[in-house]
Amino acid sequence: MISSTNTAISIDMKHPNYPLLFDPIQVGKLILPNRIIMGSMHTGLEESKGGMAALARFYAERAAGGAALIVTGGIAPNREGALGPGGARMQRKRHAREHRLITEAVHNEGGRICMQILHGGRYSYHPFNVAPSAKKAPINRFKPRQLTDYGVRRTIRSFVHAAELAKSAGYDGVEIMGSEGYLINQFLVEETNTREDRWGGTFKKRMLFPVEIVRRIREACGPDFLIMYRLSMLDLVPKGSSWEEVVTLAKAVESAGADVLNTGIGWHEARIPTIATMVPRGHFSFVTKKLKGHVGIPLVATNRFNNPETCEMALKDGVSDLISMARPFLADPEIVVKSELNRAHEINTCIGCNQACLDHIFKRKVATCLVNPRASHEGKWPLDAKASTSLRVAVVGSGPAGLSASIEAARLGHDVQLFDEGREIGGQFNLAKKIPGKEEFYETLRYFENMLEKFNVKTHLNHPVIASEIGAHFDAIILASGVRPRGFHIPGLENQAEIVGYTDVLSAKVEVGRRVAIIGAGGIGFDVADFLSHQSEGHFSQTWGIDEELKSRGGLLDSVSGESPREIHLFQRSEGKVGGGLGKTTGWIHRKTLKDRGVETHSGVEYQSWSDGTLHFIEGGEEKSLEVDHVVVCAGQESRQELLAELNGLNVQVQVIGGAKDARGLDAQRAIREGLEAAYALSAWSVNPVS
Ligand code: FAD
Ligand code: NAP
Ligand code: SF4
Repeated sequence: MISSTNTAISIDMKHPNYPLLFDPIQVGKLILPNRIIMGSMHTGLEESKGGMAALARFYAERAAGGAALIVTGGIAPNREGALGPGGARMQRKRHAREHRLITEAVHNEGGRICMQILHGGRYSYHPFNVAPSAKKAPINRFKPRQLTDYGVRRTIRSFVHAAELAKSAGYDGVEIMGSEGYLINQFLVEETNTREDRWGGTFKKRMLFPVEIVRRIREACGPDFLIMYRLSMLDLVPKGSSWEEVVTLAKAVESAGADVLNTGIGWHEARIPTIATMVPRGHFSFVTKKLKGHVGIPLVATNRFNNPETCEMALKDGVSDLISMARPFLADPEIVVKSELNRAHEINTCIGCNQACLDHIFKRKVATCLVNPRASHEGKWPLDAKASTSLRVAVVGSGPAGLSASIEAARLGHDVQLFDEGREIGGQFNLAKKIPGKEEFYETLRYFENMLEKFNVKTHLNHPVIASEIGAHFDAIILASGVRPRGFHIPGLENQAEIVGYTDVLSAKVEVGRRVAIIGAGGIGFDVADFLSHQSEGHFSQTWGIDEELKSRGGLLDSVSGESPREIHLFQRSEGKVGGGLGKTTGWIHRKTLKDRGVETHSGVEYQSWSDGTLHFIEGGEEKSLEVDHVVVCAGQESRQELLAELNGLNVQVQVIGGAKDARGLDAQRAIREGLEAAYALSAWSVNPVS
């Protein structure tokens, strides 16, 4: 308990590391116990069968994990505004009734929740989309219909009605999505709003749409209902809002009745990374800080906050009053509680990869998390489950698959020993973490290392396993021996000093020359090209052309990309775009980075031979040759299964997971998920009633 005479000291003692993060704050009429908001994320559960119950579990777990306030994924106020056909809406009383499951579940955990109202405008991916002007978005094939004056007024009414329904569903408030290039943004910017009626023309007229929405929601929902407005503070598109317009709108929205301003960075069509892993932590907080003092209501900073230290530093630096994190709550629902109880070392950190969250959404799959496969599947692998029989389990291989299997099996109560022939845990992640901009991978290894210790997994490093040695001592064996790089064979190149594998390059066993051919343009080929073309730490804003002084419209400047210290050629045999198979939300970043550094790409290539330092190949039907110092092979991988036959001959349960099971289509997401599944498949388990 905090004593009234000694409040400051007691708070400091309870949260020695993050005093500002756990300093309560009043937002609107709500008193929030800490400064962390769980930001809006569309999970895909919104549109799935039984999705409301699943979402209720999903949000309740995050409320129990300490989020001071949760913002739901975007819910459209009407059919035109839905992001896709059949997209989630709050338009009818029955929608509100369905949402009650969510609000009750969150409130039962002592949490608070706002519903985000999002109208996609010209981003809505269906033929009924509407916008201030009939201008097609570069990222949508559907051209919008221009809203009539009546249509604009009707749309405002839809926002207000959605807020009223949200209130009736038990939400504590709403967030009005005014950023990322959605409908409200489209009204604000001249480029997308060429209207000549009262909703277009001067900035005062262009901003009437959001201001009216806020004013009328306040009027309809009363003073106790929280209104958060997500303000696009940096559009990152040509002819986007000027900083003066951002400040003018912030003030107008405050006067209209908003209680808190959240930060929006970049329209979806912007060609600058805003949340991917190469964005430095908290990088965009300079924008929110610049708005400080212009309004009286609290400000929320966002984008690439993924740990309590960065949040605490931002608060200390006076950047904002609150911090919003979204994906970090997928990676670890308990991020807040772990920070509060000085267990930050146990946080499973979001690595900003987008692979299992945003990339899933683009593939119309339910979002989950690469480092936490439980996300969106709450209850499927309960954290408090215990095995009915404790088995002696050997896990061979400490890559992501083996690490995941080890900690999950030990959590279930099995006696687990982990073996790896390497001198450190992590398998291929030890190479991945060396790629510039992928430093977050260190965090996953830190998490696993701490979990191995927490759950008493006995770890044997520098220990190549042979089947006979473990057979007699264990009840079950999980083979997670991973992959080995595929070889590359063309006449003349066998056993030459110039041919090297990506493992030797990334672990600095070879000094790579100035002219390089990379064979294979998958994820690893791109990473190796990035590694070899990376000159020195450029400043992120300069590299990508972000105006930190906010003097130019949209916050854009010319980019200054560093030149590669090497001449690099990236090859693939298949036809089509090089790097076309990379993730939807990050592939373009990798392709642009290499292009800006002058890396040359070759597709549809037939490799011929090697002679006297020259690679001979056919491209576009033409015979070509290229003199290089090194050929770096990134031609995919093969499973390491050499132990399998012998293990199958032993009288023990054997499961094969991750790359060892199948190298095709392998990524860390699959490896970690299979580790979790293998642990729960070891024996029967149940969630023990609390005695
Ligand atoms: P591995 O990571 O290969 O681990 C297998 C382990 O088993 C190794 O530590 C090995 O030493 C050990 N082992 C094998 N045989 C024995 C034995 N007999 N005795 C003892 N130990 C043994 N994936 C992504 O999803 N996203 C990315 O951004 C990404 N980037 C990458 C970047 C690079 C540069 C690389 C190389 C890989 C990247 N990957 C990425 C791929 C990802 O790392 C792999 O999919 C993942 O590591 C596979 O996990 P695994 O546990 O199955 O195997
Ligand atoms: P990959 O994506 O399968 O790419 C292998 C590359 O090698 C392809 O370009 C392939 O193209 C080429 N290739 C295949 N067989 C070949 C052969 N016999 N001779 C010459 N070339 C050959 O595999 P990877 O790059 O090794 O990556 C492994 C896994 O790690 C992938 O599943 C990937 O998802 C994951 N990863 C992800 C990221 C990320 O950023 N998300 C980054 C790194 C790795 P052609 O057949 O057309 O020549
Ligand atoms: Fe973060 Fe990657 Fe998980 Fe998405 S999938 S939440 S980016 S770690």
